[in-house]
Amino acid sequence: MSVYEWNSILQKIKNDFPNIFIWLEQANGFFIKEENKFIIEVPDAFHKKTLDEKYKFDILKTIRETLENNYINLIVNVKPDQTTKKKNDSDKITIIEQQITLPLETKINYIPNLNSKYRFDNFIVGNSNKFTHGACTAVAEAPGQTYNPLFIYGDVGLGKTHLLHAIGNYVFEHNPNMRILITTAEKFLFEVVQKIKEFKMDEFREKYRNVDLLLVDDIQFLKGDATTEEFFHTFNELYNHGKQIVATSDSHPSKLNLEERLKSRFTAGLITDIQQPDFETRVAILKQKAKELNKEVPDNIIAFIAEHIENNIRSLEGALITLFALSKQNNDEMSIDIAKSALKITNPSFESSKKIGIDLIQEIVANYFNIKVQDLSSRKRPENIATARQIAMYLVRNLTDYSLVQIGQYFGGKDHTTVMHAIDKVEKLMSTDNKFKAIVDELISRIKK
Ligand code: ADP
Ligand code: MG
Repeated sequence: MSVYEWNSILQKIKNDFPNIFIWLEQANGFFIKEENKFIIEVPDAFHKKTLDEKYKFDILKTIRETLENNYINLIVNVKPDQTTKKKNDSDKITIIEQQITLPLETKINYIPNLNSKYRFDNFIVGNSNKFTHGACTAVAEAPGQTYNPLFIYGDVGLGKTHLLHAIGNYVFEHNPNMRILITTAEKFLFEVVQKIKEFKMDEFREKYRNVDLLLVDDIQFLKGDATTEEFFHTFNELYNHGKQIVATSDSHPSKLNLEERLKSRFTAGLITDIQQPDFETRVAILKQKAKELNKEVPDNIIAFIAEHIENNIRSLEGALITLFALSKQNNDEMSIDIAKSALKITNPSFESSKKIGIDLIQEIVANYFNIKVQDLSSRKRPENIATARQIAMYLVRNLTDYSLVQIGQYFGGKDHTTVMHAIDKVEKLMSTDNKFKAIVDELISRIKK
């Protein structure tokens, strides 16, 4: 490595991180290519400590970018000739250290393209993705040792990319020495074409064939002879060395437009799919997203959105964000009507069903008992509210085809057994108490009008 390169690294740090640059003014830097190590030598232990604890990630990121090599490791040493001299000063240094100890900045994710937002701990597990989630965590905990390759497929917006990044993030946190590469088939394709043009395929192979974990998103976009060929060899090379490969796609490998020999490679590992989430999972995802955005959303609105968007989690999120934007214009009020507008914006063909809806029933019942619609989904227990709630649940059950789980969610995230119990109670009262039955009949006629 030439002095020139160290200077350009310094220059970049000076521009991007002036506060770090002052710690490097007296430093030397050099690269040991055979070991992929970058050494920075600083005047004393205090400089070393500061760089190690506070700035290492930003510096390493700059080095990796400047030298276009993502596998470089960084080591900060005290300049050899100064170690002895500075030893005498060590008391002073300790004092300074104590004064200046600053909180560690959060670790910067320096793996290009790995999105730290997509993690296992914010991925909601339900029946639709349970198996795939399990396979992904197994792979993340022991890359190369369980399911290899792991192939995930499913419709758009169901969490494939999220899981792929979650694996990467998990491995990065638990196994920082593992070399991770996350890419998309499109990017892979682009890079192959590019490197062929530049006669730099060696560089390309060095990059792709020296990883411990290769994550490739949207493999359905893999096409073109040269790229498939290159992918095939990359795949074999990694696989034969026990390196983990995870790929996602919109359909089963057998349905992809790929060579048979590559398809059969995928079949050798585990192929697993993600289905459309059921209602409960959609509710849980909406709650999770609302929590991440620090928003409180009433249960009946969560239920309403979950009911009307069934097949795409990205659209669920879109509707929620639109809801927040609209409610902001309305003094943060959130109502079913605003949720309807949000759904119409995100999906112009949306028509809130003409059938009798829960919102209509809730409105009529609340009116009749002179309470607020929100009271029906609250935990309030005064008798008139509790009775109104039970009657409303009964009416929804009998006049619509909502499931017990859905009804529970519309009435404040209650368990389906609570709903069942409420309906039983209303039925019993109707058969013993004529006055009560008259009220329910009156409500039914108002709703049907
Ligand atoms: P795909 O790659 O299958 O098209 P994504 O992984 O991009 O889908 O998911 C779309 C959005 O939905 C992302 O914002 C993702 O975080 C979110 N998402 C998908 N599944 C889940 C889940 N089970 N829990 C939480 N969020 C999810
Ligand atoms: Mg995706």
